Amino acid sequence: MDQSRRNMLKLGGAALAMIPVVAIAAKNDAMRASMKYKDTPEGDKNCANCVQFVPGKTATDLGGCKIFPGDTEVSPKGYCVAWAKKG
Ligand code: SF4
Repeated sequence: MDQSRRNMLKLGGAALAMIPVVAIAAKNDAMRASMKYKDTPEGDKNCANCVQFVPGKTATDLGGCKIFPGDTEVSPKGYCVAWAKKG
C-alpha cells in the first residue's frame, strides 16, 4: 500500500470515528414529555441514583436513560416520574 492511500484510510477512519459523537447528541422530547422529565432533582431522587441512568464520561457529564431511546443529554441531576432507586 502506498503512503498516500494509507494516509487517506487513516483520515477516513478518524472522520468516521467523529461522526457518532456529533450525530448522537439528541433529546428524546416525546419520552421526556410523557415522563415529565426535568433537569433538576426531586428531593433525593435524581438520574444519577436511578437504575435507568446511563452515565456519561464523568459523574457530572450528561448521559442517557434506558427508557429514553436516543437521548444523550440526560442530566445526572435530572428526574422523571419513572425514577427507580439504583440497587
Ligand atoms: S428514568 Fe427518569 S429519573 Fe431515571 S434516569 Fe431516566 S430520566 Fe432519569
